[in-house]
Amino acid sequence: MKDYLEIYVHIPFCQSKCRYCDFLSWPEKNQDTVAQYFKALCREIAAFDVPGEKPVGTVYFGGGTPSCVDPVWIKKTVSALEQRFGFDFKSEQIEKTLEVNPKTVDEAQLKAYRELGFNRLSVGIQSLNDRLLKKLGRLHSAEEALAVLDMAAAAGFDNISVDLMSGLPGQTPADLDKAVKRLAIYPHVRHISCYSLIVEPGTVFDKWQREGRLELPPEDLEREMYHHLCRKLKSRGFHQYEISNFARLGYESRHNSGYWDLTPYAGFGLGAASLFQKGPADQDGAFFRRENTRNLKIYLDEPAQSFEGHDLSKSEAEGDFMFLGLRTADGVSDEDFDQLFGESFQDCYQKEISTLIKEKLIQKDGSRIFLTRKGLDLANQVFMAFV
Ligand code: SF4
Repeated sequence: MKDYLEIYVHIPFCQSKCRYCDFLSWPEKNQDTVAQYFKALCREIAAFDVPGEKPVGTVYFGGGTPSCVDPVWIKKTVSALEQRFGFDFKSEQIEKTLEVNPKTVDEAQLKAYRELGFNRLSVGIQSLNDRLLKKLGRLHSAEEALAVLDMAAAAGFDNISVDLMSGLPGQTPADLDKAVKRLAIYPHVRHISCYSLIVEPGTVFDKWQREGRLELPPEDLEREMYHHLCRKLKSRGFHQYEISNFARLGYESRHNSGYWDLTPYAGFGLGAASLFQKGPADQDGAFFRRENTRNLKIYLDEPAQSFEGHDLSKSEAEGDFMFLGLRTADGVSDEDFDQLFGESFQDCYQKEISTLIKEKLIQKDGSRIFLTRKGLDLANQVFMAFV
């Protein structure tokens, strides 16, 4: 756990809805709604008040597509954060990431983000195969996505992350090879997140699947592609530090890393989640989770009061620490667990740990446990043992 607060800001607007996406986002045509949203967001930030506040360590603007709104709104939100949390958004000590979609940015916009203080860009590329991009419902081509990487570097971004997807309909290992090879050429691309496609209820892909119109790779091929991708990224100098995340050494996402070790975070905006620490971790109720309403009307009326949450019991917090930590390549160390909760995970989870080791899903190295290759494929089964 780090000794700082992480901030997440949710911008729910996109240019169009991708066919696989179940995030809280939609194409908003009404600029009045956009204006009302950002006013509510700034009100929520100004009213933020929880005990035990720490200095800000990371900021992440995600969504949705933050780059699809007028940068003026991003600037106003940044000012609201600076005022409420008393920090300089231009400070290079703080990691500040903005998500962009290749179809919604130009060089002037990227320059404006950099001047505002953002020092990390997350570009939603997903694939460098135009046929697959079209199938996903993405509006950009592979060349347009790569052009954004050049523009971002010209605008002064030295730390760029790219999203890729695997397990897509009709995708082959050769598609992934090609994408990794092309991305590795860009010196400023320091981080790659790879997500396996999951068909989520309510999406266009879900409808297509029920109608028998979505041909996904069989599970064993999908897993093979994932491991193939991991090997290819490793050979190009991107080490895997979490199930879905790869980075050049020293460019691991600080913000995401906080989610995996119970670092407190404050989420602002529609549906945003937060985790706060109210007291010593070895006590029931030390952590408090909350989630903002997903109802836009309710949020616009009462942005600072429209959330639901609950205190975590000590055993819930311990379970979260275990399964979130096991997402990472380093896994969980008993020293870290003991330091936080005042007891050994061997005592709390003796039965679970020995069963998972017997099933070859986790491995032990000294006082540390982590997922095996088999465990990477069956990660949810491992996580369920701790919740
Ligand atoms: S751009 Fe991102 S958030 Fe928006 S619909 Fe597509 S995947 Fe979802």
